[in-house]
Amino acid sequence: MLSLFSKYPGLEKRIPHYKLGDYPTPVGKLSTLSSELKVENLYVKRDDLSGEPYSGNKVRKLEFIYANILAKKIKGIFVFGYGGSNFVVAANIYAKKLGIKCLTFLVSQVNANYVRKNLLVGTYYKAKIFHYSNYFTMTLGSIYYYLSFALKNRSLPQLASFGGSSAIGTVGFVNAAFELKEQIKNGDLPEPDFIYVALGSMGTAAGLILGAKAAGLKSKIIPVRVVMKAYTNEKTLNKLILKTNKYLHKLDDNFPLFPIEAFNYEIRHDAYGKGYAYFTSEGQEAVKLLREKEDIKLEGTYSGKAFAALIKSARNDSLKDKVVLFWNTQNSVRFEDQISKLDYHELPKSCHQYFDNEVQELDR
Ligand SMILES: *Cc1c(COP(=O)(O)O)cnc(C)c1O
Repeated sequence: MLSLFSKYPGLEKRIPHYKLGDYPTPVGKLSTLSSELKVENLYVKRDDLSGEPYSGNKVRKLEFIYANILAKKIKGIFVFGYGGSNFVVAANIYAKKLGIKCLTFLVSQVNANYVRKNLLVGTYYKAKIFHYSNYFTMTLGSIYYYLSFALKNRSLPQLASFGGSSAIGTVGFVNAAFELKEQIKNGDLPEPDFIYVALGSMGTAAGLILGAKAAGLKSKIIPVRVVMKAYTNEKTLNKLILKTNKYLHKLDDNFPLFPIEAFNYEIRHDAYGKGYAYFTSEGQEAVKLLREKEDIKLEGTYSGKAFAALIKSARNDSLKDKVVLFWNTQNSVRFEDQISKLDYHELPKSCHQYFDNEVQELDR
């Protein structure tokens, strides 16, 4: 049973859940880096091993998003993201598995190898992809397809939040905090003083912050911002935490409603760099360090920047006697075989730019 449901059985009766991943995800000690960075106790939570055929942090959210769609007999979902969005890849793969129609709306981003890869994985899974140069044209495009979906299917599709970070998706990470609490109880790791995690559409961090409070963990969450501050900041994060808290409290009033001051977190704004998905040299250094010392793969858009923030604090000596947990959010399933023979010309024309133009300099 899910850790959240065993603590709050009332929620189990009211929240649809469909298991897609393998839990609990392992925790491990980063022994080599512990001594190298002079952090007394450095651990990693391996959500990069959260499942097949696609892992990473989006799986926990999709378990709740798709269970809700199935329970309500909704016929399809529209998903939105940047050109190389990991969420839309995960959403397409698991939609196919569950027989849910999925339409994908992408907006232009800076070029990187993982964008090419994710687009080809989408092609492999026969994703219906529409790509736009800006939010305005994406919104117009999705309205057109929304209406035609409604006429054709005589029902409305679900509109997914960016990154799957609705209150429902965020419950996946409230549960993840309860799962971590059980691992601490089992002696798999000591209770962390700090939990570092990448902060994008915010569902991951919001769920962990709310879940840590509800599970009685003292850990301070350190969400490391990797998207524009206009979207992702203390105010918008608080809003998502409170919305998810209200949702859970409404379904089972044993789940407490916390005041906003109760939450223990501090956003890091200093690892962002030039923009979303623009790699930074500190982020790339973090990726290299994890690969060489611990054989763990990170990437430059999210997890590398999050770990770079951890390294910076370690070098300032502020983590010296602490127990620090790094939450690895990255997918680790490789798709080389599936995509090696695919031709990007199968993608819509507006996606060809990612293949015709060079990737950003730090990714070459
Ligand atoms: C989406 C994503 C994140 C950010 O999670 P949010 O819930 O959107 O804040 C972090 N890491 C990776 C690899 C992701 O794909």
